[in-house]
Amino acid sequence: MAASYDIVIVGGGGAGLRAAIAVAETDPRLSVAVVSKVYPMRSHTVSAEGGAAAIAGPDDTFDEHAYDTVSGSDWLCDQDAVEVFVPEARAELLRLEHWGCPWSRQPGGRIAVRAFGGMRKKRTWFAADKTGFHLLHTLFQTALSYSDIVRYDEWFTTSLLVDDGRVCGVVAMELATGRIETITARAVVVCTGGCGRVYPFTTNANIKTGDGMALAYRAGAPLKDMEFVQYHPTGLPFTGILITEAARAEGGWLLNKDGYRYLQDYELGKPEPTPKLRCMELGPRDRLSQAFVHELDKGRTIDTSHGPIVHLDLRHLGAEVIDTKLPFVRELCLQYQHIDPVRELIPVRPVIHYMMGGVHTDINGAAGLAGLYAAGEVACVSINGANRLGSNSLPELLVFGARAGRAAAEFAAAGHGSSSAVLAQGRDEQRRLERELARHSEGGERIADIRLEMQETMENGAGIYRDGGSLSKAADTLRQLRERFGAVGLDDHSRTFNTELVAALELSGMLDVAETIVHCALRREESRGAHQRTDFPARDDERFLAHSLIRRQPDGSGRVEYLPVTITRWPPAERVYGKD
Ligand SMILES: Cc1cc2nc3c(=O)[nH]c(=O)nc-3n(C[C@H](O)[C@H](O)[C@H](O)COP(=O)(O)OP(=O)(O)OC[C@H]3O[C@@H](n4cnc5c(N)ncnc54)[C@H](O)[C@@H]3O)c2cc1C
Repeated sequence: MAASYDIVIVGGGGAGLRAAIAVAETDPRLSVAVVSKVYPMRSHTVSAEGGAAAIAGPDDTFDEHAYDTVSGSDWLCDQDAVEVFVPEARAELLRLEHWGCPWSRQPGGRIAVRAFGGMRKKRTWFAADKTGFHLLHTLFQTALSYSDIVRYDEWFTTSLLVDDGRVCGVVAMELATGRIETITARAVVVCTGGCGRVYPFTTNANIKTGDGMALAYRAGAPLKDMEFVQYHPTGLPFTGILITEAARAEGGWLLNKDGYRYLQDYELGKPEPTPKLRCMELGPRDRLSQAFVHELDKGRTIDTSHGPIVHLDLRHLGAEVIDTKLPFVRELCLQYQHIDPVRELIPVRPVIHYMMGGVHTDINGAAGLAGLYAAGEVACVSINGANRLGSNSLPELLVFGARAGRAAAEFAAAGHGSSSAVLAQGRDEQRRLERELARHSEGGERIADIRLEMQETMENGAGIYRDGGSLSKAADTLRQLRERFGAVGLDDHSRTFNTELVAALELSGMLDVAETIVHCALRREESRGAHQRTDFPARDDERFLAHSLIRRQPDGSGRVEYLPVTITRWPPAERVYGKD
Protein backbone atom coordinates (compact mmCIF):
# COMPACT_ATOMS: atom_id res chain seq x y z
CA MET A 1 0.00 0.00 0.00
CA ALA A 2 1.15 3.58 -0.53
CA ALA A 3 0.12 6.91 0.94
CA SER A 4 1.46 10.33 0.08
CA TYR A 5 2.00 13.55 2.04
CA ASP A 6 3.96 16.72 1.51
CA ILE A 7 5.96 16.07 4.67
CA VAL A 8 6.47 13.03 6.86
CA ILE A 9 7.73 13.57 10.39
CA VAL A 10 9.12 10.51 12.10
CA GLY A 11 8.59 10.90 15.85
CA GLY A 12 5.78 12.35 17.95
CA GLY A 13 7.88 13.64 20.87
CA GLY A 14 8.65 17.28 21.59
CA ALA A 15 10.74 17.84 18.46
CA GLY A 16 8.34 16.00 16.14
CA LEU A 17 5.22 17.78 17.36
CA ARG A 18 6.93 21.18 17.30
CA ALA A 19 8.07 20.50 13.74
CA ALA A 20 4.55 19.45 12.71
CA ILE A 21 3.05 22.63 14.14
CA ALA A 22 5.72 24.71 12.37
CA VAL A 23 4.82 23.12 9.02
CA ALA A 24 1.12 23.80 9.58
CA GLU A 25 1.87 27.40 10.61
CA THR A 26 4.19 28.00 7.65
CA ASP A 27 1.87 26.74 4.96
CA PRO A 28 -1.56 25.35 5.88
CA ARG A 29 -1.90 23.84 2.40
CA LEU A 30 0.81 21.29 3.12
CA SER A 31 -0.23 17.86 4.32
CA VAL A 32 1.77 16.38 7.21
CA ALA A 33 1.98 12.86 8.59
CA VAL A 34 3.48 12.21 12.05
CA VAL A 35 4.61 8.60 12.34
CA SER A 36 5.36 7.48 15.90
CA LYS A 37 6.14 4.06 17.30
CA VAL A 38 4.33 5.04 20.51
CA TYR A 39 1.32 7.22 21.19
CA PRO A 40 2.85 10.75 21.15
CA MET A 41 2.23 11.45 24.83
CA ARG A 42 4.33 8.37 25.69
CA SER A 43 7.44 9.78 23.99
CA HIS A 44 10.46 10.26 26.23
CA THR A 45 10.00 14.03 26.38
CA VAL A 46 7.18 13.32 28.83
CA SER A 47 9.67 12.18 31.46
CA ALA A 48 11.78 15.36 31.56
CA GLU A 49 11.54 16.68 35.06
CA GLY A 50 13.92 19.55 35.75
CA GLY A 51 13.14 22.24 33.23
CA ALA A 52 13.98 24.27 30.14
CA ALA A 53 16.66 26.97 29.96
CA ALA A 54 16.15 30.48 28.60
CA ILE A 55 16.83 33.85 30.05
CA ALA A 56 13.90 35.05 32.12
CA GLY A 57 14.75 38.25 33.95
CA PRO A 58 16.72 41.50 33.61
CA ASP A 59 19.68 40.13 35.60
CA ASP A 60 20.54 37.70 32.76
CA THR A 61 21.59 38.13 29.12
CA PHE A 62 21.62 36.09 25.92
CA ASP A 63 25.42 36.33 25.91
CA GLU A 64 25.68 34.76 29.35
CA HIS A 65 23.43 31.86 28.35
CA ALA A 66 25.48 31.48 25.18
CA TYR A 67 28.80 31.55 27.04
CA ASP A 68 27.69 28.94 29.59
CA THR A 69 26.57 26.70 26.73
CA VAL A 70 29.82 27.17 24.81
CA SER A 71 32.07 26.55 27.80
CA GLY A 72 29.84 23.68 28.99
CA SER A 73 30.33 22.09 25.57
CA ASP A 74 34.11 22.26 26.07
CA TRP A 75 34.17 24.50 22.97
CA LEU A 76 32.93 21.77 20.65
CA CYS A 77 29.54 23.35 19.91
CA ASP A 78 29.02 25.54 16.87
CA GLN A 79 28.74 29.08 18.14
CA ASP A 80 26.55 30.27 15.27
CA ALA A 81 24.01 27.62 16.33
CA VAL A 82 24.23 28.74 19.96
CA GLU A 83 23.72 32.37 18.97
CA VAL A 84 20.58 31.40 17.10
CA PHE A 85 19.48 29.18 19.97
CA VAL A 86 19.52 31.48 23.00
CA PRO A 87 17.09 34.20 21.85
CA GLU A 88 14.82 31.70 20.11
CA ALA A 89 14.76 29.51 23.24
CA ARG A 90 13.22 32.38 25.15
CA ALA A 91 10.72 33.10 22.36
CA GLU A 92 9.74 29.42 22.22
CA LEU A 93 9.17 29.14 25.98
CA LEU A 94 6.99 32.26 25.86
CA ARG A 95 5.10 30.81 22.90
CA LEU A 96 4.52 27.65 24.89
CA GLU A 97 3.12 29.79 27.71
CA HIS A 98 0.63 31.27 25.23
CA TRP A 99 -0.32 27.78 24.09
CA GLY A 100 -1.13 26.87 27.69
CA CYS A 101 2.02 25.49 29.35
CA PRO A 102 1.63 26.03 33.11
CA TRP A 103 5.12 27.32 34.00
CA SER A 104 5.69 27.57 37.76
CA ARG A 105 5.55 31.14 39.07
CA GLN A 106 7.12 33.29 41.72
CA PRO A 107 4.70 34.70 44.32
CA GLY A 108 4.43 38.00 42.36
CA GLY A 109 3.40 36.14 39.19
CA ARG A 110 6.68 36.26 37.25
CA ILE A 111 8.08 33.07 35.75
CA ALA A 112 10.01 31.10 38.38
CA VAL A 113 13.50 29.92 37.46
CA ARG A 114 15.85 27.48 39.15
CA ALA A 115 19.58 26.87 39.00
CA PHE A 116 20.98 24.06 36.83
CA GLY A 117 24.41 22.50 36.51
CA GLY A 118 26.92 24.56 34.53
CA MET A 119 24.51 27.51 34.22
CA ARG A 120 25.98 30.44 36.12
CA LYS A 121 22.61 32.20 36.42
CA LYS A 122 19.22 30.87 37.42
CA ARG A 123 17.49 30.47 34.06
CA THR A 124 15.75 27.11 34.07
CA TRP A 125 12.00 27.45 33.64
CA PHE A 126 10.00 24.60 35.12
CA ALA A 127 6.52 23.29 35.72
CA ALA A 128 7.12 21.77 39.19
CA ASP A 129 9.22 18.70 38.39
CA LYS A 130 6.96 17.52 35.56
CA THR A 131 8.19 19.96 32.95
CA GLY A 132 8.37 17.43 30.09
CA PHE A 133 4.83 16.24 30.71
CA HIS A 134 3.41 19.75 30.57
CA LEU A 135 5.56 20.74 27.60
CA LEU A 136 4.59 17.68 25.58
CA HIS A 137 0.94 18.00 26.53
CA THR A 138 0.92 21.62 25.39
CA LEU A 139 2.45 20.68 22.05
CA PHE A 140 0.11 17.73 21.62
CA GLN A 141 -3.05 19.73 22.27
CA THR A 142 -1.80 22.49 19.94
CA ALA A 143 -1.05 19.95 17.20
CA LEU A 144 -4.58 18.55 17.58
CA SER A 145 -6.01 21.88 16.50
CA TYR A 146 -4.50 21.48 13.00
CA SER A 147 -6.65 19.11 10.98
CA ASP A 148 -3.96 18.72 8.30
CA ILE A 149 -1.67 16.89 10.71
CA VAL A 150 -2.44 13.20 10.20
CA ARG A 151 -1.10 10.83 12.86
CA TYR A 152 0.21 7.33 12.46
CA ASP A 153 0.29 6.34 16.14
CA GLU A 154 2.07 3.07 16.94
CA TRP A 155 3.61 2.79 13.50
CA PHE A 156 7.27 1.77 13.35
CA THR A 157 9.41 3.35 10.63
CA THR A 158 11.80 0.79 9.17
CA SER A 159 13.60 2.74 6.45
CA LEU A 160 13.95 5.98 4.54
CA LEU A 161 13.28 5.99 0.81
CA VAL A 162 16.06 7.62 -1.20
CA ASP A 163 15.92 8.37 -4.91
CA ASP A 164 18.97 9.80 -6.60
CA GLY A 165 20.32 11.28 -3.37
CA ARG A 166 16.96 12.76 -2.37
CA VAL A 167 14.86 11.45 0.53
CA CYS A 168 11.29 10.89 -0.69
CA GLY A 169 9.47 9.14 2.13
CA VAL A 170 9.54 6.23 4.55
CA VAL A 171 8.35 2.68 4.94
CA ALA A 172 6.46 2.03 8.18
CA MET A 173 4.71 -0.89 9.84
CA GLU A 174 1.49 -0.63 11.82
CA LEU A 175 2.24 -2.44 15.09
CA ALA A 176 -1.35 -3.55 15.76
CA THR A 177 -1.72 -5.37 12.44
CA GLY A 178 1.73 -5.78 10.88
CA ARG A 179 0.51 -3.82 7.85
CA ILE A 180 3.43 -2.31 5.94
CA GLU A 181 2.98 0.95 4.10
CA THR A 182 5.12 3.03 1.78
CA ILE A 183 4.57 6.68 2.67
CA THR A 184 6.01 9.03 0.05
CA ALA A 185 6.75 12.66 0.83
CA ARG A 186 8.56 15.68 -0.56
CA ALA A 187 10.52 16.02 2.70
CA VAL A 188 11.11 13.88 5.79
CA VAL A 189 11.92 15.22 9.26
CA VAL A 190 13.50 12.68 11.62
CA CYS A 191 12.70 13.42 15.30
CA THR A 192 13.20 10.01 16.86
CA GLY A 193 15.10 10.98 20.03
CA GLY A 194 18.21 9.47 21.57
CA CYS A 195 19.85 6.08 21.91
CA GLY A 196 20.48 5.48 25.62
CA ARG A 197 19.39 1.85 25.29
CA VAL A 198 22.66 1.04 23.52
CA TYR A 199 24.04 0.98 27.11
CA PRO A 200 22.87 -1.31 29.96
CA PHE A 201 22.09 1.28 32.64
CA THR A 202 20.18 4.32 31.47
CA THR A 203 17.49 6.85 32.36
CA ASN A 204 16.16 6.43 28.85
CA ALA A 205 12.83 4.75 28.15
CA ASN A 206 12.88 1.36 26.41
CA ILE A 207 11.88 3.04 23.17
CA LYS A 208 15.10 5.10 22.97
CA THR A 209 16.97 2.81 20.65
CA GLY A 210 18.47 5.36 18.25
CA ASP A 211 16.30 4.22 15.32
CA GLY A 212 16.48 7.56 13.53
CA MET A 213 20.27 7.68 13.73
CA ALA A 214 20.44 4.25 12.11
CA LEU A 215 17.79 5.19 9.50
CA ALA A 216 19.69 8.32 8.45
CA TYR A 217 23.10 6.60 8.54
CA ARG A 218 21.89 3.76 6.35
CA ALA A 219 20.35 6.24 3.94
CA GLY A 220 23.76 7.89 3.49
CA ALA A 221 23.57 10.85 5.88
CA PRO A 222 26.60 11.38 8.16
CA LEU A 223 26.37 11.16 11.95
CA LYS A 224 28.26 13.74 14.01
CA ASP A 225 30.15 13.62 17.35
CA MET A 226 28.85 10.16 18.23
CA GLU A 227 31.58 9.59 20.83
CA PHE A 228 29.99 12.13 23.17
CA VAL A 229 27.54 10.26 25.38
CA GLN A 230 26.34 11.88 28.59
CA TYR A 231 26.28 10.19 31.97
CA HIS A 232 24.02 11.88 34.50
CA PRO A 233 25.48 11.69 38.01
CA THR A 234 22.28 10.75 39.84
CA GLY A 235 20.32 7.67 38.76
CA LEU A 236 18.60 5.28 41.17
CA PRO A 237 20.91 2.23 41.32
CA PHE A 238 18.54 -0.58 40.35
CA THR A 239 16.17 0.99 37.83
CA GLY A 240 18.28 3.81 36.39
CA ILE A 241 15.38 6.16 37.09
CA LEU A 242 16.63 9.73 37.04
CA ILE A 243 16.73 11.88 40.13
CA THR A 244 16.57 15.23 38.42
CA GLU A 245 19.35 17.78 38.68
CA ALA A 246 16.65 20.05 40.12
CA ALA A 247 17.21 18.15 43.38
CA ARG A 248 20.76 19.52 43.51
CA ALA A 249 19.59 22.88 42.17
CA GLU A 250 17.30 23.19 45.17
CA GLY A 251 20.31 22.53 47.44
CA GLY A 252 20.87 18.74 47.52
CA TRP A 253 24.35 17.44 48.44
CA LEU A 254 26.35 14.50 47.14
CA LEU A 255 28.01 12.51 49.94
CA ASN A 256 30.50 9.65 49.79
CA LYS A 257 30.57 6.68 52.15
CA ASP A 258 32.05 8.85 54.92
CA GLY A 259 29.19 11.38 54.62
CA TYR A 260 31.67 13.85 53.06
CA ARG A 261 30.76 16.31 50.26
CA TYR A 262 33.47 14.92 48.04
CA LEU A 263 32.99 17.33 45.13
CA GLN A 264 35.01 19.93 47.06
CA ASP A 265 38.08 17.83 46.19
CA TYR A 266 37.51 18.19 42.42
CA GLU A 267 37.90 21.90 41.66
CA LEU A 268 34.17 22.39 41.69
CA GLY A 269 34.10 24.82 44.61
CA LYS A 270 33.91 24.73 48.38
CA PRO A 271 30.95 23.94 50.62
CA GLU A 272 28.75 26.96 51.32
CA PRO A 273 26.11 27.27 54.04
CA THR A 274 23.56 28.10 51.35
CA PRO A 275 23.72 26.73 47.79
CA LYS A 276 25.73 28.95 45.42
CA LEU A 277 25.40 28.68 41.69
CA ARG A 278 29.10 28.13 41.05
CA CYS A 279 29.42 25.52 43.65
CA MET A 280 30.06 21.81 43.73
CA GLU A 281 26.82 19.93 43.11
CA LEU A 282 25.94 22.43 40.39
CA GLY A 283 28.99 21.59 38.35
CA PRO A 284 28.42 20.12 34.88
CA ARG A 285 27.39 16.49 34.46
CA ASP A 286 30.58 15.23 32.84
CA ARG A 287 32.73 16.50 35.73
CA LEU A 288 30.38 15.12 38.39
CA SER A 289 30.22 11.67 36.77
CA GLN A 290 34.03 11.61 36.45
CA ALA A 291 34.37 12.57 40.14
CA PHE A 292 32.26 9.52 41.02
CA VAL A 293 34.77 7.25 39.25
CA HIS A 294 37.64 8.81 41.23
CA GLU A 295 35.73 8.27 44.49
CA LEU A 296 35.22 4.65 43.43
CA ASP A 297 38.95 4.27 42.76
CA LYS A 298 39.72 5.71 46.19
CA GLY A 299 37.36 3.20 47.84
CA ARG A 300 35.03 5.94 49.04
CA THR A 301 31.80 4.70 47.42
CA ILE A 302 29.39 2.18 48.95
CA ASP A 303 29.03 -1.30 47.47
CA THR A 304 25.49 -2.52 46.89
CA SER A 305 23.97 -5.42 44.99
CA HIS A 306 23.30 -2.95 42.17
CA GLY A 307 26.82 -1.62 41.97
CA PRO A 308 28.74 1.12 43.80
CA ILE A 309 26.77 4.17 44.92
CA VAL A 310 27.09 7.50 46.69
CA HIS A 311 24.29 9.37 48.44
CA LEU A 312 22.19 12.35 47.49
CA ASP A 313 21.11 14.17 50.63
CA LEU A 314 17.96 16.31 50.51
CA ARG A 315 17.03 16.02 54.18
CA HIS A 316 18.14 19.55 55.09
CA LEU A 317 15.74 21.01 52.49
CA GLY A 318 12.73 19.98 54.58
CA ALA A 319 9.37 18.50 53.63
CA GLU A 320 7.87 21.77 52.41
CA VAL A 321 10.54 22.50 49.77
CA ILE A 322 10.60 18.88 48.67
CA ASP A 323 6.81 18.70 48.38
CA THR A 324 6.43 21.95 46.48
CA LYS A 325 9.54 21.98 44.27
CA LEU A 326 10.39 18.27 44.00
CA PRO A 327 7.19 16.30 44.58
CA PHE A 328 7.99 13.82 41.81
CA VAL A 329 11.44 13.10 43.27
CA ARG A 330 9.78 12.12 46.55
CA GLU A 331 7.20 10.00 44.73
CA LEU A 332 9.87 8.18 42.66
CA CYS A 333 12.04 7.49 45.72
CA LEU A 334 9.08 6.17 47.71
CA GLN A 335 7.76 3.99 44.91
CA TYR A 336 10.95 2.65 43.34
CA GLN A 337 13.51 2.78 46.16
CA HIS A 338 11.25 2.54 49.23
CA ILE A 339 12.93 5.48 50.89
CA ASP A 340 11.61 8.89 51.87
CA PRO A 341 14.06 11.67 50.93
CA VAL A 342 12.60 13.89 53.64
CA ARG A 343 14.18 11.58 56.21
CA GLU A 344 16.59 9.30 54.33
CA LEU A 345 19.59 9.48 51.99
CA ILE A 346 18.97 8.63 48.31
CA PRO A 347 21.42 6.09 46.81
CA VAL A 348 22.60 7.23 43.35
CA ARG A 349 25.17 6.40 40.70
CA PRO A 350 26.03 7.76 37.23
CA VAL A 351 23.68 6.63 34.52
CA ILE A 352 23.63 7.03 30.73
CA HIS A 353 21.27 9.89 30.00
CA TYR A 354 21.68 11.79 26.77
CA MET A 355 23.33 11.63 23.36
CA MET A 356 25.21 14.77 22.38
CA GLY A 357 25.95 13.32 18.93
CA GLY A 358 23.46 12.44 16.23
CA VAL A 359 22.42 13.16 12.68
CA HIS A 360 24.59 15.99 11.36
CA THR A 361 22.44 19.03 10.58
CA ASP A 362 22.84 22.72 9.88
CA ILE A 363 20.97 25.37 11.87
CA ASN A 364 17.83 24.71 9.83
CA GLY A 365 17.80 20.99 10.47
CA ALA A 366 19.02 20.06 6.96
CA ALA A 367 20.74 16.71 7.27
CA GLY A 368 23.08 16.49 4.30
CA LEU A 369 20.71 14.64 1.94
CA ALA A 370 18.20 16.66 -0.06
CA GLY A 371 14.74 16.41 1.52
CA LEU A 372 16.05 15.08 4.85
CA TYR A 373 15.81 17.09 8.09
CA ALA A 374 16.38 16.15 11.71
CA ALA A 375 15.74 17.82 15.08
CA GLY A 376 15.71 17.07 18.79
CA GLU A 377 17.95 14.55 20.50
CA VAL A 378 18.42 12.49 17.33
CA ALA A 379 20.14 15.48 15.70
CA CYS A 380 23.48 17.15 16.27
CA VAL A 381 23.31 20.83 15.29
CA SER A 382 25.47 21.24 17.52
CA ILE A 383 24.73 23.39 20.56
CA ASN A 384 25.83 20.67 22.99
CA GLY A 385 29.32 19.86 21.74
CA ALA A 386 31.18 17.58 24.13
CA ASN A 387 28.77 18.01 27.04
CA ARG A 388 25.16 19.21 27.16
CA LEU A 389 24.10 21.48 30.00
CA GLY A 390 21.01 20.22 31.77
CA SER A 391 17.80 22.01 30.68
CA ASN A 392 19.18 23.00 27.26
CA SER A 393 17.60 20.01 25.55
CA LEU A 394 13.94 20.94 25.91
CA PRO A 395 14.43 24.41 24.41
CA GLU A 396 16.68 22.84 21.77
CA LEU A 397 13.93 20.56 20.54
CA LEU A 398 11.54 23.51 20.37
CA VAL A 399 13.91 25.88 18.58
CA PHE A 400 15.33 23.40 16.11
CA GLY A 401 12.10 21.39 15.77
CA ALA A 402 10.42 24.60 14.61
CA ARG A 403 13.33 25.49 12.32
CA ALA A 404 13.41 22.04 10.75
CA GLY A 405 9.64 22.14 10.23
CA ARG A 406 9.83 25.52 8.52
CA ALA A 407 12.77 24.50 6.32
CA ALA A 408 11.04 21.24 5.33
CA ALA A 409 7.87 23.19 4.50
CA GLU A 410 9.83 25.51 2.20
CA PHE A 411 11.58 22.61 0.53
CA ALA A 412 8.29 20.74 0.04
CA ALA A 413 6.50 23.82 -1.30
CA ALA A 414 9.14 24.07 -4.02
CA GLY A 415 7.63 20.80 -5.30
CA HIS A 416 9.59 17.61 -5.79
CA GLY A 417 7.59 14.57 -6.83
CA SER A 418 8.60 10.98 -6.22
CA SER A 419 9.40 8.55 -8.98
CA SER A 420 8.29 4.99 -9.64
CA ALA A 421 11.73 3.90 -8.40
CA VAL A 422 10.67 4.99 -4.92
CA LEU A 423 7.58 2.80 -4.98
CA ALA A 424 9.74 -0.11 -6.13
CA GLN A 425 12.07 0.54 -3.18
CA GLY A 426 9.04 0.45 -0.89
CA ARG A 427 8.10 -2.96 -2.27
CA ASP A 428 11.68 -4.21 -1.74
CA GLU A 429 11.56 -3.06 1.88
CA GLN A 430 8.22 -4.81 2.32
CA ARG A 431 9.78 -8.07 1.08
CA ARG A 432 12.74 -7.59 3.44
CA LEU A 433 10.37 -7.16 6.38
CA GLU A 434 8.45 -10.28 5.38
CA ARG A 435 11.77 -12.17 5.45
CA GLU A 436 12.56 -10.69 8.88
CA LEU A 437 9.19 -11.86 10.16
CA ALA A 438 9.84 -15.38 8.87
CA ARG A 439 13.34 -15.58 10.49
CA HIS A 440 14.01 -18.93 12.13
CA SER A 441 16.89 -19.40 14.51
CA GLU A 442 19.99 -20.95 12.98
CA GLY A 443 22.37 -21.77 15.79
CA GLY A 444 20.14 -20.65 18.62
CA GLU A 445 21.10 -16.96 18.76
CA ARG A 446 18.72 -14.88 20.91
CA ILE A 447 17.91 -11.17 20.58
CA ALA A 448 18.19 -10.60 24.34
CA ASP A 449 21.64 -12.23 24.58
CA ILE A 450 23.10 -10.12 21.79
CA ARG A 451 21.50 -6.95 23.13
CA LEU A 452 22.90 -7.60 26.60
CA GLU A 453 26.38 -8.30 25.28
CA MET A 454 26.26 -5.17 23.15
CA GLN A 455 25.21 -3.08 26.16
CA GLU A 456 27.93 -4.52 28.40
CA THR A 457 30.50 -4.07 25.66
CA MET A 458 29.58 -0.39 25.44
CA GLU A 459 29.73 0.14 29.20
CA ASN A 460 33.09 -1.60 29.52
CA GLY A 461 34.65 -0.24 26.35
CA ALA A 462 33.15 3.22 25.89
CA GLY A 463 32.04 4.29 29.38
CA ILE A 464 32.87 7.38 31.47
CA TYR A 465 36.57 6.67 30.89
CA ARG A 466 37.88 4.87 27.79
CA ASP A 467 41.21 4.11 26.16
CA GLY A 468 42.52 2.77 22.88
CA GLY A 469 42.60 -0.81 24.21
CA SER A 470 39.06 -0.84 25.60
CA LEU A 471 37.68 0.76 22.45
CA SER A 472 39.48 -1.60 20.05
CA LYS A 473 38.20 -4.56 22.04
CA ALA A 474 34.67 -3.12 21.92
CA ALA A 475 34.95 -2.64 18.15
CA ASP A 476 35.97 -6.32 17.72
CA THR A 477 33.14 -7.58 19.91
CA LEU A 478 30.58 -5.45 18.08
CA ARG A 479 31.76 -6.92 14.77
CA GLN A 480 31.22 -10.42 16.13
CA LEU A 481 27.82 -9.48 17.53
CA ARG A 482 26.81 -8.15 14.12
CA GLU A 483 27.68 -11.54 12.59
CA ARG A 484 25.82 -13.40 15.31
CA PHE A 485 22.81 -11.17 14.77
CA GLY A 486 22.50 -12.70 11.31
CA ALA A 487 21.63 -16.01 12.97
CA VAL A 488 18.95 -14.63 15.31
CA GLY A 489 15.53 -16.23 14.98
CA LEU A 490 12.04 -15.18 16.03
CA ASP A 491 9.62 -17.30 18.09
CA ASP A 492 6.70 -15.08 17.21
CA HIS A 493 5.74 -15.02 13.52
CA SER A 494 2.34 -13.36 13.95
CA ARG A 495 1.51 -9.88 12.69
CA THR A 496 -0.38 -8.60 15.70
CA PHE A 497 1.78 -6.45 18.00
CA ASN A 498 4.87 -8.48 17.18
CA THR A 499 7.17 -6.92 19.75
CA GLU A 500 9.84 -9.53 19.04
CA LEU A 501 10.12 -8.37 15.43
CA VAL A 502 10.33 -4.76 16.62
CA ALA A 503 13.06 -5.74 19.11
CA ALA A 504 15.03 -7.37 16.27
CA LEU A 505 14.71 -4.28 14.06
CA GLU A 506 15.71 -2.02 16.94
CA LEU A 507 18.70 -4.19 17.82
CA SER A 508 19.95 -4.15 14.27
CA GLY A 509 19.87 -0.34 14.34
CA MET A 510 21.49 -0.20 17.78
CA LEU A 511 24.42 -2.30 16.57
CA ASP A 512 25.05 0.32 13.86
CA VAL A 513 24.78 3.16 16.36
CA ALA A 514 27.09 1.39 18.85
CA GLU A 515 29.71 0.93 16.14
CA THR A 516 29.63 4.60 15.22
CA ILE A 517 30.12 5.58 18.89
CA VAL A 518 33.10 3.27 19.29
CA HIS A 519 34.76 4.18 15.97
CA CYS A 520 34.49 7.92 16.60
CA ALA A 521 35.76 7.46 20.17
CA LEU A 522 38.73 5.43 18.95
CA ARG A 523 39.74 8.08 16.45
CA ARG A 524 39.47 11.01 18.87
CA GLU A 525 42.82 10.91 20.65
CA GLU A 526 42.11 13.55 23.29
CA SER A 527 39.88 14.13 26.32
CA ARG A 528 37.08 16.65 26.04
CA GLY A 529 33.81 16.90 27.96
CA ALA A 530 32.11 13.52 28.13
CA HIS A 531 34.84 11.81 26.05
CA GLN A 532 37.66 11.01 28.49
CA ARG A 533 40.57 8.95 27.15
CA THR A 534 42.92 7.78 29.91
CA ASP A 535 45.62 7.33 27.25
CA PHE A 536 45.12 10.92 25.98
CA PRO A 537 44.10 12.84 29.11
CA ALA A 538 44.43 16.39 27.72
CA ARG A 539 42.20 18.40 25.39
CA ASP A 540 43.96 18.82 22.05
CA ASP A 541 42.57 21.84 20.21
CA GLU A 542 45.25 21.61 17.58
CA ARG A 543 44.03 18.28 16.25
CA PHE A 544 40.51 17.93 17.58
CA LEU A 545 38.74 21.26 17.80
CA ALA A 546 36.57 19.61 15.17
CA HIS A 547 33.41 17.55 14.85
CA SER A 548 33.75 13.93 13.87
CA LEU A 549 31.56 12.93 10.97
CA ILE A 550 31.05 9.25 10.32
CA ARG A 551 29.68 7.98 7.00
CA ARG A 552 28.58 4.46 6.20
CA GLN A 553 30.59 2.75 3.48
CA PRO A 554 29.12 0.26 0.99
CA ASP A 555 30.66 -2.64 2.98
CA GLY A 556 28.84 -1.47 6.13
CA SER A 557 31.93 -0.05 7.86
CA GLY A 558 32.12 3.60 8.94
CA ARG A 559 34.59 6.22 7.68
CA VAL A 560 35.40 9.11 10.02
CA GLU A 561 36.40 12.60 8.88
CA TYR A 562 36.54 15.94 10.67
CA LEU A 563 34.66 19.19 10.24
CA PRO A 564 35.95 22.40 11.84
CA VAL A 565 33.97 23.84 14.73
CA THR A 566 32.35 27.23 14.06
CA ILE A 567 33.76 29.84 16.43
CA THR A 568 32.12 33.27 16.33
CA ARG A 569 32.87 35.21 19.51
CA TRP A 570 34.25 32.94 22.21
CA PRO A 571 37.78 31.64 21.48
CA PRO A 572 38.66 28.34 23.14
CA ALA A 573 39.57 28.71 26.81
CA GLU A 574 39.85 26.55 29.90
CA ARG A 575 36.59 25.39 31.48
CA VAL A 576 36.58 26.68 35.03
CA TYR A 577 33.90 25.96 37.63
CA GLY A 578 33.64 26.66 41.31
CA LYS A 579 35.61 29.91 41.35
CA ASP A 580 34.10 33.33 42.00
C1 LIG B 1 14.36 10.98 32.44
C2 LIG B 1 14.77 12.16 31.60
C3 LIG B 1 14.68 13.43 32.10
C4 LIG B 1 15.08 14.52 31.32
N1 LIG B 1 14.97 15.78 31.84
C5 LIG B 1 15.28 16.85 31.08
C6 LIG B 1 15.10 18.17 31.58
O1 LIG B 1 14.64 18.40 32.70
N2 LIG B 1 15.44 19.21 30.75
C7 LIG B 1 15.94 19.02 29.51
O2 LIG B 1 16.22 20.00 28.81
N3 LIG B 1 16.11 17.77 29.01
C8 LIG B 1 15.78 16.69 29.76
N4 LIG B 1 15.95 15.43 29.26
C9 LIG B 1 16.33 15.26 27.85
C10 LIG B 1 15.13 15.53 26.96
O3 LIG B 1 13.96 15.17 27.61
C11 LIG B 1 15.20 14.77 25.64
O4 LIG B 1 16.45 14.96 25.03
C12 LIG B 1 14.12 15.24 24.69
O5 LIG B 1 12.86 15.22 25.31
C13 LIG B 1 14.09 14.42 23.43
O6 LIG B 1 12.97 14.82 22.67
P1 LIG B 1 12.76 14.32 21.17
O7 LIG B 1 11.50 14.92 20.67
O8 LIG B 1 14.01 14.54 20.42
O9 LIG B 1 12.60 12.74 21.33
P2 LIG B 1 11.55 11.85 22.15
O10 LIG B 1 10.72 12.63 23.09
O11 LIG B 1 12.36 10.73 22.69
O12 LIG B 1 10.58 11.32 21.03
C14 LIG B 1 11.01 10.41 20.04
C15 LIG B 1 9.83 10.04 19.18
O13 LIG B 1 10.29 9.27 18.09
C16 LIG B 1 9.44 8.17 17.89
N5 LIG B 1 10.21 7.10 17.26
C17 LIG B 1 11.44 6.63 17.59
N6 LIG B 1 11.82 5.65 16.74
C18 LIG B 1 10.81 5.50 15.85
C19 LIG B 1 10.60 4.65 14.74
N7 LIG B 1 11.48 3.73 14.37
N8 LIG B 1 9.43 4.78 14.06
C20 LIG B 1 8.49 5.68 14.43
N9 LIG B 1 8.66 6.50 15.48
C21 LIG B 1 9.80 6.42 16.17
C22 LIG B 1 8.91 7.82 19.27
O14 LIG B 1 7.69 7.15 19.17
C23 LIG B 1 8.76 9.22 19.89
O15 LIG B 1 7.50 9.75 19.55
C24 LIG B 1 15.57 14.33 30.02
C25 LIG B 1 15.65 13.04 29.51
C26 LIG B 1 15.30 11.96 30.30
C27 LIG B 1 15.47 10.58 29.74
